Amino acid sequence: MAAKFDLVVVGGSFAGLACARTAALRGLKVAVLDGKSEPGARVRTTGILVKEATEDCDLPADLMRKVRGVRLYAPDGRALDLHAPGYYFQATDTAGLLRWMATEAERAGAKLMYGRRFEGATEDRFGVSLPALDLHTQFLIGADGARSHVAQFFGLGRNRRFLAGAEIECEPLPGLDARFLHCFADSKIAAGYIGWAVPGLGMTQIGVASVRGRKPQLSQLFARVATTSGGDSVRVVERRSGLIPTGGPVEPLGRGRVMLIGDAAGLVSPVTGGGIHTALHFGRRAAQLVGEYLYDRGGHPLEAFAREIPRYRLKRVLRRVLDLAPPNALIDAMLMTAPLRALAQRLYFHRRSGDPASFEAWQEDFERGNMEPQPPSRGGELRCI
Ligand SMILES: Cc1cc2nc3c(=O)[nH]c(=O)nc-3n(C[C@H](O)[C@H](O)[C@H](O)COP(=O)(O)OP(=O)(O)OC[C@H]3O[C@@H](n4cnc5c(N)ncnc54)[C@H](O)[C@@H]3O)c2cc1C
Repeated sequence: MAAKFDLVVVGGSFAGLACARTAALRGLKVAVLDGKSEPGARVRTTGILVKEATEDCDLPADLMRKVRGVRLYAPDGRALDLHAPGYYFQATDTAGLLRWMATEAERAGAKLMYGRRFEGATEDRFGVSLPALDLHTQFLIGADGARSHVAQFFGLGRNRRFLAGAEIECEPLPGLDARFLHCFADSKIAAGYIGWAVPGLGMTQIGVASVRGRKPQLSQLFARVATTSGGDSVRVVERRSGLIPTGGPVEPLGRGRVMLIGDAAGLVSPVTGGGIHTALHFGRRAAQLVGEYLYDRGGHPLEAFAREIPRYRLKRVLRRVLDLAPPNALIDAMLMTAPLRALAQRLYFHRRSGDPASFEAWQEDFERGNMEPQPPSRGGELRCI
C-alpha cells in the first residue's frame, strides 16, 4: 500500500525545506523529494541573503558573513560605494546552510527523500498519488525551481523570461576589499544585468548573468576582477550555472491539490534576481496555509497566497528596460549621476538612505562604537580608481 502523507514537497532547496519544516512543526505528515543525492549538492546560487531574510528566519550565524557595502563599478572603472547604516547582506556557506535546513526539517518530523525525482502523478478526490514512488498525499507543493516539472506536469503557469547566470568559486582573492559586494555594470560582460565578485566564507565567488541570448562573459569579468584586486592567478574550486526567472509570479500558481512556491512560482525580483528571501518567507507561509486548509477548514491556500505574494509590477517594467542592455557609453555617462546613484541606493538598500560621510568614515565611527544616529542622505560616494 502507498505511504500516505498530508503534504509532499517536490524540491528540497530553500523554498521546499522552509515549507517542510513549518508544515512538520504544525503536525502535518510531510515528505520532501529531491532529485539530488543529498541536501546542498550541486548548488546553483551565489547564496547572498538580504538582511530581511535573516530577520524573517533564524539562521546560524556561523554559516554566514556580513557584508555591509556595495561597490558598483562603471565600465570605465569608476566606482560608487553604497551602504546604509545598520544594513547588511550575508554571504553564506550555501551548501552548509541547505544541509542545516534539511537537518532542521527532519528534526521537525519531515521525511527527506533525496535521490528521488518527481516524474508524474495521478489525481483523485482525496489528493495526489505518485505511483513510481508509491506515495499518496493530500496536497502537493512544487518547489522544484525555475524549470518546474510540477508546473509542467499539472499544466500550471511556467516561467518564460530568464537571466542566464554562470559563476566560479575560487580561493580567496586577498586584494578584494572584503567589506563590499563588488558589482560590475557592463553590457559587454553582463548584458541586462551585472557581474559580481563576493568575498565569501573562506572563498570568493565571481559570477555574471545576462539576458538570454547574450552569453554571460565570465572570463572577461574574471580579468576585470583580477585587475581590480591585483591578483592574476587563482585556483577555481567549483563552477556553476543556472537560470533566474525574471517575469514575476506565474499564472496559475496552482489548482486543486497542487501549488507552486519559490522559483517555480516565479517569486524572484525581476531586477536584482534575488529569490532566496521570498523562497524562505513564502515557503513557510504556504505550509501554514496548507495546514489551515487541511485541518482547520481554512480557505483554499491559493486564495491567500495569491493575495500576499509580491507582484513586482514596477520591477517588471524596469526589467524590460534593463533587457535592452544599454551601451557601455551610456552606462558610463549615467551611472554616477545623482538620479542613478539614488536609484542604485534604493535597489540595493530599499528605502534606506546612505550616510553623507564616506563608507570609510562611517565604518570608523561604527568600529569606535559611536552609536549616534546618522542624518540621512540621497546617494552614494563616488570613488575614482
Ligand atoms: C547564478 C545564480 C545566482 C543567484 N544568486 C542569488 C543570490 O545571491 N541571492 C538570492 O537571493 N538569490 C539568488 N539567486 C536566485 C536563487 O538561487 C533562487 O531564487 C532560489 O534558489 C530559489 O529557491 P527554490 O527552493 O525555489 O529553488 P531551487 O533552489 O532552484 O531548488 C529547486 C530544487 O528542486 C529540485 N528539483 C528540480 N526538479 C526536480 C524533480 N523533478 N524532482 C525532484 N526534485 C527536483 C532541485 O534538485 C533543487 O534542489 C541566484 C540564482 C542563480 C542561477
